[in-house]
Amino acid sequence: MTAQLSFNPAAAGPPASRKADSLLIRKAAVLGAGTMGARIAAHLANAGLPVVMLDIPSEGTARSALAVLALENIKRGKPAALYEPSLAARITTGNFEDDLALLTDCDWIVEAVTENLAIKQALLGRISPYVKPGAIVTTNTSGLPVASIAAGMTEGFRRRWFGTHFFNPPRYMRLVEVIPTPEADPAAVEAVSRFADVRLGKEVVLARDTPNFIANRIGVFIMLQAVQLMQEEDLTIEEVDALTGTAIGWPRTGTFRLADLVGLDVLAHVADNFARSGSGAGGQDVAIPPFIKAMLERRWLGDKTKQGFYRKEKDAAGNEVRLVLDWKTLDYRPAARPKLPLLEAAKNTERLPERLNLLLSADPGKDKAARFQWRLLSRLWNYAADCLPEIADDASSVDRAMRAGFNWEMGPFHLWDAAGVRKTVDRMKVAGEPVSANVEHLLASGAASWYREEGRECFDLASGAYQPVTASEGVARVATFKASHGIVRRNAGASLVDLGEGVACLELHSPKNAIGEDIIRLVTESLRPDGDAVRSFAAFVIGGDAEQFSVGANLMQLLLSVQEGEWDDVEMAIRGFQRMTAAIKFCPRPVVVAPFGFCLGGGTEMALHAFRRQAHAELYMGLVETGVGLLPAGGGTKEMTLRAVDAAAAVREGGRNESVELLEALRRNFETVAMAKVSTSAAEAHRLGFLTVADGTTMNRERLLGDAKQLARDIAAAGYAPPVPRDSIPAPGENVLASLRLGVHMMRQGEYISDHDVKVANRVAYVLCGGNITPGTPVSEQYLLDLEREAFLSLCGEKKTQERIAFTLKTGKPLRN
Ligand code: NAD
Repeated sequence: MTAQLSFNPAAAGPPASRKADSLLIRKAAVLGAGTMGARIAAHLANAGLPVVMLDIPSEGTARSALAVLALENIKRGKPAALYEPSLAARITTGNFEDDLALLTDCDWIVEAVTENLAIKQALLGRISPYVKPGAIVTTNTSGLPVASIAAGMTEGFRRRWFGTHFFNPPRYMRLVEVIPTPEADPAAVEAVSRFADVRLGKEVVLARDTPNFIANRIGVFIMLQAVQLMQEEDLTIEEVDALTGTAIGWPRTGTFRLADLVGLDVLAHVADNFARSGSGAGGQDVAIPPFIKAMLERRWLGDKTKQGFYRKEKDAAGNEVRLVLDWKTLDYRPAARPKLPLLEAAKNTERLPERLNLLLSADPGKDKAARFQWRLLSRLWNYAADCLPEIADDASSVDRAMRAGFNWEMGPFHLWDAAGVRKTVDRMKVAGEPVSANVEHLLASGAASWYREEGRECFDLASGAYQPVTASEGVARVATFKASHGIVRRNAGASLVDLGEGVACLELHSPKNAIGEDIIRLVTESLRPDGDAVRSFAAFVIGGDAEQFSVGANLMQLLLSVQEGEWDDVEMAIRGFQRMTAAIKFCPRPVVVAPFGFCLGGGTEMALHAFRRQAHAELYMGLVETGVGLLPAGGGTKEMTLRAVDAAAAVREGGRNESVELLEALRRNFETVAMAKVSTSAAEAHRLGFLTVADGTTMNRERLLGDAKQLARDIAAAGYAPPVPRDSIPAPGENVLASLRLGVHMMRQGEYISDHDVKVANRVAYVLCGGNITPGTPVSEQYLLDLEREAFLSLCGEKKTQERIAFTLKTGKPLRN
């Protein structure tokens, strides 16, 4: 009786979530150092783990040569798998014969060897004595049944075994499909899923142990359909790439460029697995057509063998030309830009739903491109619906997988909603085309779309009703808060959004988030010490939902004023920008900037002025103004001076030579600004001096806003006192300036830079040093801002600077003049 009364749930076993917390992943191993293995190892190192990477032993003395070579390639390869080359030091290499003992303290082991059941099974047998109790082992197989790989292992092993399917390249592709087997311990699955989400920054989608899982099942199916329809409609490879690219919200690579990138052999492997798949392919043929079989025989596998559907060649004049395969003759011919009136008409329609409807409204009887598009999409929709619930519990998992694994703007169900489910089903019926029983089920229940409530609820086939689409805690976008908490104020460039719990977000949303008058006004007003917002909120975050944080100041506005000779306007604009960054810095409430993607020029200046930065790991940050013949004048150059001066002052306590440190720090910052260096990751942004040790990094873009909000709350809760404008900064002065100028001179002598580069760089040096004054002269922040502004105005008057601005606006590239 007493035992029953004092029943303690913990004694009956902790719940899955608590168990998951106890499964800490502190060290990982990757088996196989091939295409995937080496890059998965690199990304685990990016996440801060020590990693063991093993491969088969080589003959001779250098037994681990394969893994060692793979690591060397990882350091140099493009796109970079590591956030920084130095992270390679976290990876220990070895081989499957001599170094299995390295596995004994690993918490998570990822198998990524050749896609061969017998090889994978044999390898698991060999490593099992070295797997510590509780360690998790997963496979990166893309198509083998996950459970069957571990069929011969002990029950204990099988409980810690499941699939983690990364996409290539793992650092950049957001999807990881987690494939639990029926025997897998839910706590282990949860631990790895959470790790992949939070620490590796991945979109984790739970998939079933069915052939090709989710993304490849749908994605490769539709690629094969595109090939088939190309033949039936007599289209060219370029035409199909245009039809299956950005027009319908898929990547620019379309079908065949993507196939070349992935490798035809890899795709063929996936295609072969379709034979084992359960629910029908809607009667569609998923076999590889004879012309692709011929390509496989000739090893025209795509980029890895230098030719596939496309090939690059040099013409007689030495220029590179792109050739494309004529699929009928297997000859290559120069690629042509496809001229499809259908796509031309849709080009100017910005939003995908409208564009889609425009494309689908074309008469398929008159236009083969319109026929292709309709037949392709209707096959996609029916197939995706037919695959439920075989491959996933719900439609939203499929959509998430396609967005994160194939970079589609919308998954198939979302896209179907955009085209109108009932409308398209009616059209299929009129045309006598097959219709998936699952969509009939949806319509029969009275529902008319897969989603409702702006995507917050998704139709569930099992219950015949809408169910909430659950996002895990901490995953949040500004749009979500706009819907739940509302917008406090907005203009065309920015909004002040209530994030709840006393935090507000200044969301940038101008085209490319270029910083113009709108943003400057809204940010400055919102952060005014005596303003409403500062009274209402305890902390602020600056961020957004766009792809890029900001491309920098609105150059178009600037160029127009410059060309009109409106110098007062230019000066006012700079003063306005400086007032905005000052508002960020001296706001009575803490401001956290959450940069992501491209954060250039003025975007970086905003970030530099915040109390803290919570950065996305994929961060391309830089003060790039010199690229257009200018210099950072929104306080960015001043902040780089302050950082160097403070770094030098900090070594005083350490007993090191302050003036040496000052010269080094200033030279570093000078190079960063004068050479317009842009980081390729948050880790590199640290090294460039844009981020500090007190700043945070978020691996998962979807968690960035939540993390920034949390950081802002924590700072506010700890009691925040804003800094005061400094008025006695010891200016680096003439000695450092002379040294920096000498460097510029040498660069010119070596013909690394142009005369105009010299002019711009010397201006940067001048402002950074606080002018040509006696070292140590106390100067104020305002003094440095004035120097910035004067230098900026004077550079604006330079013809070569104006040419640079115009060129960059036109081409998006810098002009070296
Ligand atoms: P890969 O051919 O580049 O590398 C395979 C590795 O396995 C090599 O390092 C090789 O030395 C090793 N290996 C070969 N024979 C072996 C043996 N007998 N015993 C132990 N190791 C052996 O292959 P990959 O593309 O990296 O694929 C690895 C796994 O990842 C496969 O299961 C594949 O299906 C899957 N995958 C590949 C991709 C992709 O795009 N390449 C994407 C997702 C998943």
